[in-house]
Amino acid sequence: MKIYVDQIPDEGLERGFEEPVDSFHYLEKEEVGTAAKVSGPVHVNLVVKKTSGGVSVRGRLQGTASMACSRCLVEITEDVGHDFFYDCLPVEEMEEEEELSTDSADIHYYTGGEIAITALVQEQLALALPMKALCREDCKGLCPRCGANLNLGDCGCQKGPVDLRLAALMDLKIKKD
Ligand SMILES: [Zn+2]
Ligand SMILES: [Zn+2]
Repeated sequence: MKIYVDQIPDEGLERGFEEPVDSFHYLEKEEVGTAAKVSGPVHVNLVVKKTSGGVSVRGRLQGTASMACSRCLVEITEDVGHDFFYDCLPVEEMEEEEELSTDSADIHYYTGGEIAITALVQEQLALALPMKALCREDCKGLCPRCGANLNLGDCGCQKGPVDLRLAALMDLKIKKD
């Protein structure tokens, strides 16, 4: 989905559409290491208006993403809903604007009079991912001894103090995966 700046009427425009799954890449939320992929079409509603220097885009997205539970690594699917707002400016304005704006407003620079809405939606989907993905609130996670999924039942390992070296290894393995 793209919006052509010269086709935006003075009164602005509203768009509702569906972005198919395959228009998105893998989603990553760097702060928490949550990685996910879009698992269904994403519904997007937009209100687009011309501003003095460019275009404002206010949007709402609704979709689903699949990711691994952060404790037991089982794949789960989460609803992802998110509101967003962008100030879009022609790329020619970039140098000037970068010096002016020190706040963290979402500014998007476009080239050739085209605003790549799909890329903005991709960015916002990643932001909308949960901070900590869990298959359920009380997920028991994996056994630190044998790696079995404890939600599926007791693995039979002895309870009690865990071999710290093995626990460290398991931890490392989980983080790598
Ligand atoms: Zn889990
Ligand atoms: Zn075990």
